[in-house]
Amino acid sequence: MKIAKYINTIYNELKENMDKLNALDAAIGDGDHGSNVCRGFKAILDEETSFTETTMIGNDFNKCASILMAKIGGSSGPLLGICFMNMGMVLKDKNKIKNSDFYTALEKGINGIKLLGKSTTGEKTILDALVPALAAFKEADDKPLAFAKAAELAEKGAKDTIPMLATKGRASYLGERSIGHQDPGATSIALIFKALANT
Ligand code: ADP
Ligand code: MG
Repeated sequence: MKIAKYINTIYNELKENMDKLNALDAAIGDGDHGSNVCRGFKAILDEETSFTETTMIGNDFNKCASILMAKIGGSSGPLLGICFMNMGMVLKDKNKIKNSDFYTALEKGINGIKLLGKSTTGEKTILDALVPALAAFKEADDKPLAFAKAAELAEKGAKDTIPMLATKGRASYLGERSIGHQDPGATSIALIFKALANT
């Protein structure tokens, strides 16, 4: 697998923050988000030997998508899965990813989430971290710089979910009581970009 080291650092970052993510989800959901995302990325690492080294990056993304969909219980599984799947479609002929490729891929991934989740920004979801992060890949030519910027923007995006009213997913059942809590999904996205920025 070409992206193994990235999946590995993502898993480590999520694992370190698993309890924190579960606690955020316990406040406005059912308390499983940290366990869910950890299980998904761990499953990719467990199945790594079935990935072939010769495949294009897009194939890695497609395979990750299937595993995330199958292994993450909860709504974040299909949503992250569709994101990876759409990214895989854009990256299918790529051996190396430039910022512009990543931008196009992530944009398509985000559109997949919006379509499947019938959601948009401002609803206290993963989109509130993903959409700001996307901008980093348009502005910077330099890859490390773009990922550092994306991590910063995603973290701010996650924090910005605190005053939001949840209108999608489990947190929406709480109505006004969802206000004042940081969205667990947006937080895990911020952690994923933090891990990528450090790899
Ligand atoms: P579940 O809510 O089924 O227990 P998780 O706890 O794993 O699933 O994931 C919850 C996260 O999923 C939320 O914090 C939110 O960011 C994200 N989410 C839920 N519904 C949607 C949606 N329709 N669109 C985008 N993201 C969503
Ligand atoms: Mg949950």
